[in-house]
Amino acid sequence: MELLRQKVINEGIVLEGQVLKVDSFLNHQMDPLLMKEIGRAFTQLFADTGVTTILTIESSGIAPGIMTALEFGVPLIFARKQKSLTLTEDIFVETVYSYTKKQSNDITVSKKFIKPGDRVLIIDDFLANGEAASGLARIVKQAGAEVVGIGIVIEKSFQPGAQLLIDEGYRLESLVRIRSLDNGQVQFVELPL
Ligand code: 5GP
Repeated sequence: MELLRQKVINEGIVLEGQVLKVDSFLNHQMDPLLMKEIGRAFTQLFADTGVTTILTIESSGIAPGIMTALEFGVPLIFARKQKSLTLTEDIFVETVYSYTKKQSNDITVSKKFIKPGDRVLIIDDFLANGEAASGLARIVKQAGAEVVGIGIVIEKSFQPGAQLLIDEGYRLESLVRIRSLDNGQVQFVELPL
């Protein structure tokens, strides 16, 4: 997606630990026009999937998730991150290790909102090791629903998450794919001509 690629080039900042900071348009300040285009792009990519529900994780997945949900005309659910849980009867719970925070969180979704037969599209802002996306996919499985695809705004293709999700059989579509963040430089995976 060219607009997103330009934003990454012009505004992305490479931090220690192979982290790309994009807080001027995705992770802190948000660019609504870009979000609208992101929603449209995911809707085109997953048009044939019969999606009934979008699932993401708070907080940075919510903006791309809601724009995609708006385009599809389906609800968005965002999984909540919680430190420790006492009552777990009415919720699906999975444990996910956070790449940027270097800590484990329980992520939860109310059993009210995902049901058997639902066709769920998972959306997230970044893909690194695939922890967040596979935790969300496990929640969908717990609910007896189906993951119809995983849509990622920025995939760091040099980290293992993308291959892991593909090996698990998921349909993965990423709007930009980064080959390397070495030496503070963003290098993209080039698209075939
Ligand atoms: P994963 O679960 O795939 O290891 O990492 C994905 C999650 O970690 C995303 O939800 C995102 O919040 C965060 N993340 C991973 N890598 C980056 C990065 O380079 N930049 C930013 N801003 N967030 C990242």
